[in-house]
Amino acid sequence: MDLLTQASKTYSENFPQVAWFERAIFISWFCAKPTCKFCFMYTIKDQIKQPKFARRRLESILAEALICRICNWEIGFVSAGIASWNTQDLKEVLEGIYKITGKKQWLNLGTLREKQIEELLPFIEGVTGTVETVNWKIRPDIVPDKPIEEISKMFEIADRHNIKKSITIIIGLGETIDDFPELVKLIDKWKIDRINFYRLVPHEGAMKLPGPTTEYYIEWIAKTRIEFPKLVIIAGSWPDRTEEIPLLLKAGANAVTKLPAIKNFGKQPAINIADGVKEAGREFLSELVHYPKVDIDEELKKIDMDEAFKSKVKDKYLKYYKKLGKHE
Ligand code: SF4
Repeated sequence: MDLLTQASKTYSENFPQVAWFERAIFISWFCAKPTCKFCFMYTIKDQIKQPKFARRRLESILAEALICRICNWEIGFVSAGIASWNTQDLKEVLEGIYKITGKKQWLNLGTLREKQIEELLPFIEGVTGTVETVNWKIRPDIVPDKPIEEISKMFEIADRHNIKKSITIIIGLGETIDDFPELVKLIDKWKIDRINFYRLVPHEGAMKLPGPTTEYYIEWIAKTRIEFPKLVIIAGSWPDRTEEIPLLLKAGANAVTKLPAIKNFGKQPAINIADGVKEAGREFLSELVHYPKVDIDEELKKIDMDEAFKSKVKDKYLKYYKKLGKHE
């Protein structure tokens, strides 16, 4: 409890009393190195061999970006498995998202080469190093194809080009809180701008661990907040765990992520998030319960895009909008 009180105090001294929801936009189900033992891509690796066929269509990605803008969900990052998109096609995706949201994006696409980063630079806010665990004994087995040295190299490139850096950490992979000093060392060494914490969610066919308790999960977040008062901390929580939202925020998280938001919009997990933010004494900047009243044609008029393609985005948007169900 003392830890939580201290983390809350540190947060309040450094950030306004707000929180937002953010979601990753997944753009492909292909990964060239599908070897991370916790990952959904690891479980479907035998079904997907061709990057092109596993990609989402551009209109679908952009329709989702439009919903993010309307509901004020931040896009946590644009995410895909390793080597799933070539740089030119990726640039088209990022440019489209930029036109819709007016924002540069974080990328979570494995380690990127300098040429790629240079090409995508006008649309990149930052790059993500998927560290996943700081227990160096278990990491080579759980994350065999994402060496820390490659992440280090990508961050050196990021520094040269003045873009931000983030890392992802999954709690519950077999580490203990005794490993926390290793996380401190990494954050200090790389001078990262933000960290995404996730709780392990067991997928069928992936590693069989139960996932962390809320108490243990928030211990990592709270210690990180106290150690790094100004770091942006994003905390993932799944639909069956949304009762822990007030604790994640009191532990010092700035925002929450990971809820499949279109599927759960207006449903109990989404209500729990909105209520949980209030309970933590913060104002919720995003909308997860009541879909904002918008005229989609007016929204689309604001976007500088080929009219024929806009109509494809609109069709896809309306399909998603139906899924938002009772808010029709
Ligand atoms: S590299 Fe990324 S997408 Fe590929 S298996 Fe690992 S976590 Fe999953």
